[in-house]
Amino acid sequence: MLQSKLFGKTVKEPPKDEVSVNAILLSRGGFVDKLTAGVYTYLPLGLRVLRKIQQIVRDEMNAIEGQEILMPALLPKDNWVKSGRWSDPGKEVMFQFEGRAGKEFGLGWTHEEIVTPLVKKFTSSYKDLPVYLYQIQDKFRNEPRAKSGLMRGLEFSMKDLYSFHRDADDLAKYYQEALAAYQKIFLRCGLEALVTEASGGSFSKYSHEFQVLTEFGEDTIFYCASCHYAQNKEVAEIKGGDNCPKCGGNILEGKAIEVGNIFSLKTKYSEPFNLEYTDVDGKVKPVMMGCYGIGPSRVMGSIVEIHHDDKGIIWPASVAPFAVHLLQIGTDEPVAAKAKKIYNELLEAGVDVLFDDRSEASAGQKFADADLIGIPLRLVISVKAGDKIEVKKRSEAKIELMTLAQVKKIINV
Ligand code: ATP
Ligand code: MG
Repeated sequence: MLQSKLFGKTVKEPPKDEVSVNAILLSRGGFVDKLTAGVYTYLPLGLRVLRKIQQIVRDEMNAIEGQEILMPALLPKDNWVKSGRWSDPGKEVMFQFEGRAGKEFGLGWTHEEIVTPLVKKFTSSYKDLPVYLYQIQDKFRNEPRAKSGLMRGLEFSMKDLYSFHRDADDLAKYYQEALAAYQKIFLRCGLEALVTEASGGSFSKYSHEFQVLTEFGEDTIFYCASCHYAQNKEVAEIKGGDNCPKCGGNILEGKAIEVGNIFSLKTKYSEPFNLEYTDVDGKVKPVMMGCYGIGPSRVMGSIVEIHHDDKGIIWPASVAPFAVHLLQIGTDEPVAAKAKKIYNELLEAGVDVLFDDRSEASAGQKFADADLIGIPLRLVISVKAGDKIEVKKRSEAKIELMTLAQVKKIINV
């Protein structure tokens, strides 16, 4: 991609109406544009990152036999009356409104009320179970405090997986598989997420949050410095300074961001929607359910909160908008021709390259933009570099001179 043609521009000054690091850097870098509090447009750079995160999530959901579907976001009232959630939490969370002829609708903020009757249509016998369905879709929530950029949107991307089982054992087994898949997702995204008990006591094994430690987090957790056992403070049985109940290590207190959440729902939704099946013994039994959520847009915001310095974002390679940022410094013919040649050779080798070919931008501006945008590898073509390419990783200070063959080696092409 030629940077001269890229839609969206970098901005030097932080936007006046943003306080969170992720919103400031993503706006300044030309990744997102704020429409109103908690509602953002993803510009070409930002959409590339979001799609990469969503693809990592999709890969890992497919690996645990999830089947992708797409449910509507526009949802009729009736399903929500059945579960009780039309009025509780009702408008506290759900955007609700009237269509024609007084018919009431709400915007989807979670989808148990849709997926449960959907599965009922195709489930009668034990042979139809288990089944695992997921979608990646924008959710809508009437959040009270939407001032943390992508961390808390009124509209945001969510992956929601729902699992349906014959019995509690099968659900418990799959719950552990989903938990392991979540750990892989966050690692692949460059995040260390602590598996945190969402509620203390006997309920704890039925719900886990995935919490990323950062001082900007909205949640407080207690966690073990040695084995990483963790509980959310809201319900905690342990506190800072305690000995870890699992390994005896030190329990610390820290601020954290919840990037994922998994629940063992059991029959909470299968009962109101009469989702049952006939078991091998001929008896009719309720279906056991689990639900598993991740917010790819919140993950994107969290990555920025964790991976940045005072100059800008430092994307992990797995989610970076491009693999390589090629900077042409100077417009003289040998430099311009060489930069173009290297750009084309990298493209031919299948490398995602952002080529800063802008003729009006100064060298200083190009370097500052490269640091702000945060692509993992920067290549500079200049008179000074001569025959070679000046190579710098965004995460390191060291600059090396290399040939194109050497560059290709470090990006594995
Ligand atoms: P929180 O306690 O932060 O409001 P939640 O418990 O309501 O989160 P879930 O309903 O479990 O969240 O949603 C699943 C995932 O969706 C969360 O783990 C988070 O990654 C993401 N998510 C939830 N609400 C938002 C939001 N307003 N903006 C962005 N992502 C969100
Ligand atoms: Mg919430």
